[in-house]
Amino acid sequence: MSGATTAAAPAISREIPAAPDIETDVLVIGAGACGLTAALAAHDAGAEVVVVERDASPSGSTSMSSGFIPAPATAAQRAAGISDDDAGRFAADIQAKAKGTANETLVALAAREIGPALDWLADAHGLQWQVLTDFLYPGHSRHRMHAVPERTGEALLARLIAAVEAAGIPLVTEAHAQVLHLDEASTVRAVTLSRPGGGRETIACKALVLACNGYGGNPELVARFIPGMAGALYYGHAGNTGDAVLWGEAMGAARWQLSGCQGHGSLAHPHGVLISWALMMEGAIQVNAEGRRFSNEHGGYSEQAVNVLAQPGGIAWNILDARLYAFAQGFPDYRDAMAAGAIREAGDIAALAAATGLAESALRETLETVAEFAAGRKADPFGRDFTGRPALQAPFFAVKVTGALFHTQGGLGIDESARVLAEDGSTFPNLFAAGGAACGVSGPDISGYLSGNGLLTAIAFGRIAGNSAASRRN
Ligand SMILES: Cc1cc2nc3c(=O)[nH]c(=O)nc-3n(C[C@H](O)[C@H](O)[C@H](O)COP(=O)(O)OP(=O)(O)OC[C@H]3O[C@@H](n4cnc5c(N)ncnc54)[C@H](O)[C@@H]3O)c2cc1C
Repeated sequence: MSGATTAAAPAISREIPAAPDIETDVLVIGAGACGLTAALAAHDAGAEVVVVERDASPSGSTSMSSGFIPAPATAAQRAAGISDDDAGRFAADIQAKAKGTANETLVALAAREIGPALDWLADAHGLQWQVLTDFLYPGHSRHRMHAVPERTGEALLARLIAAVEAAGIPLVTEAHAQVLHLDEASTVRAVTLSRPGGGRETIACKALVLACNGYGGNPELVARFIPGMAGALYYGHAGNTGDAVLWGEAMGAARWQLSGCQGHGSLAHPHGVLISWALMMEGAIQVNAEGRRFSNEHGGYSEQAVNVLAQPGGIAWNILDARLYAFAQGFPDYRDAMAAGAIREAGDIAALAAATGLAESALRETLETVAEFAAGRKADPFGRDFTGRPALQAPFFAVKVTGALFHTQGGLGIDESARVLAEDGSTFPNLFAAGGAACGVSGPDISGYLSGNGLLTAIAFGRIAGNSAASRRN
């Protein structure tokens, strides 16, 4: 987690600053994937843009992420030989994961717009995309996960920052947006920033894009909106303290599906390193402190946070073998976990029991039963299909994990232009929101998150927000 400065609560004011320090067409709050994409789009549409970011060095949840972005029908996907994917198929996958509870309009919009957005970032701003074809994340019916060549969120953010710098867009750091100044028509006229040392500056704008993500870093809001995850470890960016939702509340903006979130059931404990769920998809299992499986690991890593936290001590052990250990080397996070000493190796089941402190008899029974599932001789009572992958074989590897809250998925209600809606369904004239600041496409439950829904709306809706905001400059 990155450090965040403490600051006064976000507020709105009906006073319009007479002499702002800076004026711009489009002001973007937040320099994650969403804000940087929005800035590039507004710039490409001819607007003058300023991005403000509270941290000294932008990182956001974007840099903590794996950086995997799902998109159908891109040039990169076609180059990878996949030609039977489209927005309709992707939208169906999103809604299947959310059990039909995600906002229909936003799902269709995201599924339709993310492909063109990634192609545009490649063509106009030099981002390079690779499609990950070596595994399928739960719920995706096609290989459509895109990543930059380094396969990390950190590199994704670095490449977006480089594009913003190349475009000559000012990115003002250590600039914590605090007060939105609205006129009588609820048009945002300016934003006041707090600066290090207690200074304040005001930027006047013709349109404002809220790209300051959700409320995972605000324990009070988590307890209020997602009580089931109150007290859970938050493993997103600490500076995402719910400012968009708090401004929205003060302004009478629509706020949708605030109980929605993404969890993860595989965070190395106590090291705090993500262990990719791809390992589960390829054959790894999770056992609890009693050495027994407790769930269908293919249900989804988000809801698995709840399943893991419900186990004794709120922990689980991921068990893999040499085949999966070799596969895991392709994931930078996994290599980080190795370097942190989180992975334990064991030559046989007895050694695995000794390395983990789990009961040998229970472990043996679990592994023998899973081998029966893999051979197709028995059916898993949790419903996971183990056939198609070899049974786990010695030597084994184990990592202790816990469940965590990664980010929130509810947020401000927006229309197809990413314009923020009021509670009565009308629109605010020049206020736009996207990414984690706006409602996502995961529905109201932790189980509704399909892999990649976070960066999906950060980039697809970020681009739309930037374009729409630019149109307000005249
Ligand atoms: C460990 C982890 C792994 C993940 N992996 C994936 C993945 O592989 N694929 C995927 O799709 N999603 C993933 N996600 C989710 C994804 O990271 C987020 O959905 C996405 O980064 C949101 O982008 P954003 O630009 O909205 O927010 P952020 O990247 O968090 O950026 C928001 C920025 O706003 C700044 N800010 C906040 N308030 C203010 C303010 N008042 N004034 C100024 N600045 C402010 C913050 O400091 C921050 O820099 C993951 C998340 C985590 C935590």
